[in-house]
Amino acid sequence: MLGHLLSWFRILGYDTLYWPSEGCDDALLKEAITSHRIIITRDSLLFQKASKQGVKCIYLPTYDTVNALAYLVKTLGIKLEFDENETRCPECNAKLTKISITPKRWRCTNCGKEYWIGGHWRNIRRILNEVKQRVEQT
Ligand SMILES: [Zn+2]
Repeated sequence: MLGHLLSWFRILGYDTLYWPSEGCDDALLKEAITSHRIIITRDSLLFQKASKQGVKCIYLPTYDTVNALAYLVKTLGIKLEFDENETRCPECNAKLTKISITPKRWRCTNCGKEYWIGGHWRNIRRILNEVKQRVEQT
């Protein structure tokens, strides 16, 4: 249910899997343990289960993108800096490789989708700045 945050983690270079909310909790917990992942959820029952099993789990107090990212900066120490060598494909999570310097373009090593710094980039920058401000305010 936090699919809207997925692209953010990947753009920022975090290896992220999406687990649909109708998916099986036990399978998710198993996956988190074997692949050393942190679960981020709005499901309090899942949060309790994970805590009992010693799986690192963050219960997000909000759906709001800016507030959620600010919360994760505080709790997990996620970095808000875009690293062009670490960024991942928002669609499939694979690493991107740079294919052109000017204009800057990347191609996904898995699905082949291409990305470049275009108009949407201003929006990404604006939201990341909002998050930084939110972190400083709280
Ligand atoms: Zn891809």
